[in-house]
Amino acid sequence: MKIFDSHVHLDLMMGEDILRMAWGGVEAAMVPSPHLMKGLFQPGSLFELWEKTLDYIVKYAASMGVDTYVGIAVPFYGIAADKWQECLDKMPEYLKEERVVCVGEIGLDVANDHEKWLMREQIAMANDFDMPLIVHGPTPREPQVRDVTADMIQVLKEEKFPLDRAVLDHTGKNTLQARFDSGCVTGLSICYDKLTAEEAAEIVEENEALRDKIIVGSELGYGGGGHLSVVKAAWAMKHDGMPESEIERVTWDNPRRVFGLA
Ligand SMILES: [Zn+2]
Repeated sequence: MKIFDSHVHLDLMMGEDILRMAWGGVEAAMVPSPHLMKGLFQPGSLFELWEKTLDYIVKYAASMGVDTYVGIAVPFYGIAADKWQECLDKMPEYLKEERVVCVGEIGLDVANDHEKWLMREQIAMANDFDMPLIVHGPTPREPQVRDVTADMIQVLKEEKFPLDRAVLDHTGKNTLQARFDSGCVTGLSICYDKLTAEEAAEIVEENEALRDKIIVGSELGYGGGGHLSVVKAAWAMKHDGMPESEIERVTWDNPRRVFGLA
């Protein structure tokens, strides 16, 4: 069974875990820029992170059999005040790199003015470069999640971004319907604070008509076997009797189409 992990921070993981993903059938992966840098950084640190991902992580994962693509975005937290524009100005250079196939993860956590401004700026860039988007939202248990999910969709609409090219990641059960109704792609994030592998499998099984709009990712990829999240979900779907061709629609065909690789 072919698996494309559609959102995984390989740069935060141990090499052995990447190898285990490959053993489990993960043949390709999307590594987005993180939505926050833990600390307060100057733009140079962000550019080094982008370069490390493109120059090293892509090759390192390839050495274990995982064909890796990259999303570039300016994180909403962790850049020193007044340095955001400098980061945005540098982004186009990186968006031209061969392995960069989307803008992301952009998005909102609390939907303040700064987050919305940064989201709009980067949607404009995705429009200019004709690229899809990975959109981050609050985790399912954060109290603002329903309101902010609506805000995310509203901003995408106001910026006239083609919604079938926007992946709304970090889906929990409580915002699933809003995401389906939006016309965006729903990213099922299997991670300790979002969905379990069994819950993700169940959502795929129960929503046959929407299956072209679902992709699956393991998000942080660490902690509690998180690197095997998508492998476990695919196993659960198979165990529940789904044919491999149907499973591969969400684990392979859809992410390849959404990221312009098919
Ligand atoms: Zn992420």
